[in-house]
Amino acid sequence: MLKNKKIMDCVIIGSGPAGYTAAIYAARADLHPVLFVGLQPGGQLTSTTKVDNYPGFPAGISGNELMENCQKQAERFNTIIIHKPITKVYFSDQKGGIHRVYMEDKENIIESKGIIIATGSSPKFLGMDKEKKFLGFGVSFCATCDGFFHKGKDVAVIGGGDTALEEASYLSKICRNVYLVVRKNYFRASKALQYRISKINNVNIFFCSQITKIMGDNFLEGIQIFNTKNKISQTILISGLFIAIGHSPNTKLFQNQLNLDERGYIVVEKGSTITNKPGVFAAGDVQDPTYRQAITSAGTGCMAALDLEKYLCLC
Ligand code: NDP
Repeated sequence: MLKNKKIMDCVIIGSGPAGYTAAIYAARADLHPVLFVGLQPGGQLTSTTKVDNYPGFPAGISGNELMENCQKQAERFNTIIIHKPITKVYFSDQKGGIHRVYMEDKENIIESKGIIIATGSSPKFLGMDKEKKFLGFGVSFCATCDGFFHKGKDVAVIGGGDTALEEASYLSKICRNVYLVVRKNYFRASKALQYRISKINNVNIFFCSQITKIMGDNFLEGIQIFNTKNKISQTILISGLFIAIGHSPNTKLFQNQLNLDERGYIVVEKGSTITNKPGVFAAGDVQDPTYRQAITSAGTGCMAALDLEKYLCLC
């Protein structure tokens, strides 16, 4: 495929629910998709514990298993899956024009009439001193990946959204105490998760609290938090700090090629996945600052494949 430089119909960038759903639909429409898995194969769901709100799984399903199933389903319809990083893209301005996706090796270029971007989003940093230094040495973005290292110890989770409460719930089963630090006096998380957390004895919630210092020399030893209501600071000794304060869209690769909003999300035409470049479509979290659910990502992945199929028919 790469050697004779055949021009493809559909290249998908990203392997979360949006990417794999796009692949399943594109493959079944005979568009012979090529899918780049990206830096986190399977996307963010692979670092989630149990997915309870994806329809069709009455007992829930693990994030990893769900994504493995999606991959198998895409492969069943002959999606070509590539595990190489993309270094650059060129998107044509012409209707029916040829887009290019470059890999590390300069000879390795894929040309395609259609591109579906499903690169998702990545967790945000607090922007504090020592946060990056201690990444992997106490600071983490993934309880399922790193919780085991803190078995029987005390840890903190920062954030008040669904991710933070999921992480706290998971860690409560492994750790002695979980300190949940929330900057407002209420959660942003769903009522169902709030209820679940309220029933766990070893999750201690600190509302109106901001983290002011990350402590330790070579690895994390504790944090200082400040209560903005009663103006009291306190130190919490912990071995793990799990940051769950939201996400930023993965759009760096497309900055000079596509219209992005002020937060960096790809702008699509309302009710579609159409970007400002003909033949380039965006699905999932990379274009959705609002819903950001696995099911909505999968839905827009389907839309992107249908939008591309229609575009190719009209070219
Ligand atoms: P959210 O953006 O929903 O929540 C981020 C949380 O972090 C908020 O409580 C926010 O506070 C807080 N925060 C942001 N910046 C800071 C900061 N600098 N310092 C301290 N706290 C900060 O992100 P999530 O990752 O939780 O969720 C993203 C999406 O994924 C949501 O749509 C969510 O519903 C979905 N999701 C669903 C799950 C499920 O259904 N089981 C599981 C996980 C995620 P504030 O409220 O003050 O802004």
